[in-house]
Amino acid sequence: MFRTRFAPSPNGLLHLGHAYAAIVAHDLAREQGGEFLLRIEDIDGASSREELVKEILEDLAWLGLSWDGPVIRQSARLSDHTAAVDRLKQRGLLYPCHCTRGEIAAASLRMGPDGPAYPGTCKNRDVDPDGAAWRIDIAKALEQTGELQWDDAIAGPQVATPDIFGDVVLVRKHLPAGYHIAVTLDDATDAIDLVTRGTDLFAASHIHRLLQELLGLPVPRWHHHRLLIDADGRKLAKRRDSPSLSDQRRAGEDGSALADALRADIFPAGISLAKALNG
Ligand code: GLU
Repeated sequence: MFRTRFAPSPNGLLHLGHAYAAIVAHDLAREQGGEFLLRIEDIDGASSREELVKEILEDLAWLGLSWDGPVIRQSARLSDHTAAVDRLKQRGLLYPCHCTRGEIAAASLRMGPDGPAYPGTCKNRDVDPDGAAWRIDIAKALEQTGELQWDDAIAGPQVATPDIFGDVVLVRKHLPAGYHIAVTLDDATDAIDLVTRGTDLFAASHIHRLLQELLGLPVPRWHHHRLLIDADGRKLAKRRDSPSLSDQRRAGEDGSALADALRADIFPAGISLAKALNG
């Protein structure tokens, strides 16, 4: 069964950009008679808010989107995430790090997709693992896997370049795992065939492809869709002033009509689809 998923983090209300992402994933599944799953990515207990999960479910129903099976909770799978982390540690691929953002920015020699690339400061140091973040030694990992490829339905075939991030964090301080490990494992557990999400996460797929290889997971295809941007060219963001879907819902707007407008690339004034891949 062909499967896609929408995987929001319940740390803010959904906005039009999320509606667009959910519709893309939903419609790609339905066009093929496949399944559309809803996974709540709630592993960060400090920022996940339960009342937002209820809003997310109501927003999707309001848009006329239905999902298959029960709502999946990423937090129910922490033991899977920890087990995978332990395997990578046993292979000597992870190392602990206490560097602060400021220290990394000061020592970094180049920019990665999410900010200054980690310069490997803790790689060969004797670091106290207690309360540390754990980073993956990308060079060592790539030595083990060799060159990897992945395929994006829009951008075409890609050679994996996880090294653009530097040694990225796989386990966040005081958390069992982080986004990259959790999303990669969960997409495998959920048997997702096509990972659909915005181009803001395009670069992350280089890391996910590496983790799939290291952990012996199936390799899906990806579909990174263009992002909705505001009049200043910035992607819509939860913490800026894009109206939330729940505000629109409570104001009595027609959710199905909104979904159909988004499908036809008709957006409210000032909002458009970014042209550039990573726009
Ligand atoms: N949970 C992530 C987010 O809300 C998206 C995960 C994904 O689609 O890979 O940004």
